[in-house]
Amino acid sequence: MDKLVSLCKRKGFIYQSSAIYGGVNGCWDFGPLGVELKRNIKEDWWYNFVQTRDDMVGLDTSIIAHPEVWVASGHVEAFHDMLVDCKDCRKRFRADHLEGTVCPECGGELTEPKAFNSMLRTQLGVSEDTAVNTYLRPETCQSIFVDFKEVYSSVRTKIPFGIAQVGKSFRNEVNPRNFIFRSREFEQMEIEYFCREEDWVELFAQWQKDIWQWYLDLGLIEAKMRWYEHPAESLAHYSKRTVDVEYEFPFGWGELQGLANRGTFDLNAHTKHSGKDLQYFDPEKNERFFPTVIEPSAGVDRTTLAVLCSAYCEEEVPTAKEGETETRTVMRFAPKLAPIKCAVLPLVKKEGLAEIAEELERKLRKKFPTYYDQAGAIGRRYRRQDEIGTPYCVCVDFDTKENGTVTVRDRDTMEQVRIPMDELAGYIGDRVTFERP
Ligand code: ATP
Repeated sequence: MDKLVSLCKRKGFIYQSSAIYGGVNGCWDFGPLGVELKRNIKEDWWYNFVQTRDDMVGLDTSIIAHPEVWVASGHVEAFHDMLVDCKDCRKRFRADHLEGTVCPECGGELTEPKAFNSMLRTQLGVSEDTAVNTYLRPETCQSIFVDFKEVYSSVRTKIPFGIAQVGKSFRNEVNPRNFIFRSREFEQMEIEYFCREEDWVELFAQWQKDIWQWYLDLGLIEAKMRWYEHPAESLAHYSKRTVDVEYEFPFGWGELQGLANRGTFDLNAHTKHSGKDLQYFDPEKNERFFPTVIEPSAGVDRTTLAVLCSAYCEEEVPTAKEGETETRTVMRFAPKLAPIKCAVLPLVKKEGLAEIAEELERKLRKKFPTYYDQAGAIGRRYRRQDEIGTPYCVCVDFDTKENGTVTVRDRDTMEQVRIPMDELAGYIGDRVTFERP
């Protein structure tokens, strides 16, 4: 894990937030490569679960909702962690994360557990008297319920259908830890899928399949994935079933995504609380009812971390000297997720090769993210691209001047093929799209 964290910082994937001021615990900044990787994950999710399905629509709601939303949803009353304090060193811990009965840091005596609400408070409005106390949302999905009626009447869709949203969420986690796994500010990709009660079992099974396949297509190592079935006694009172996809990170198993049956709880609660009827109306059967909800709820940052962990690889490869090897670090990202799709490298700067390579790179960058590098020996330039997971390196050499062809080196096999320059955009483009065959 330490090696991965240091590569992420060194290469510009992820930095500690506000590092020059000593950092903010539980907040992270995504650097030039990190922002591309994270965007690709979100876009691929949207492509799979919204764009290419006819039963899904998207939504982008405000982070700050009416404070009553969080009363109706139960968050004000029940979004609590039970905390204990150490009487000696004053550190705070989540009671359910403790193994013994004394302070894990200093062995001191602990207080009785106290409830602590994990929502981040904020104030809306500038005047002391009229400012309203409210919260930064702790999940993106609540406003999907709040807007349910507006969405389904504007798109005139029929159940079963789902509404998807990607965006920031905030939780005052007691102990943010394990790099970006548990943060205070993070992003979620959530869906509320509305269906008839009699259909949920079958649809739930289909969601399980689709979710699992999505992670496989991101390049996650299947042997490090598993389902966790929440036992009946720990389910929320309104849930008939909840399962989590877990991934085996270097620090242990952790939840990537939850998939829950939420019954009719949320639409019911917001109807009662707001006085506005959020029932679904079926014009064919002339029926009005609260649909059952299936909720797939995934974390962008945890998915990004699982992608980084799955991609990280060190291997021994032969050097130019006979019989010698060196360690190559390579990020084996699925090409569709790689931050840079293609690096263009002139074999040497001289004899017009740099100019040809620069022009080629300028053309290709209109199709996908590219990188131009002419500094240092070609072997070292390949290694630098391996370390950031660039799937294709294009080398402009003396033959390019003669016949307009370049070599394309594959990151994983390190094999090279020669192809005409004007076929490059198609050759690479076909291999880095979100599109499935
Ligand atoms: P945990 O038990 O790990 O605290 P949770 O069960 O509270 O997670 P949910 O409320 O189900 O999480 O949130 C859905 C998804 O949002 C999680 O599967 C996870 O990917 C992501 N998520 C939740 N909390 C955090 C966090 N503090 N940092 C990063 N991602 C998070």
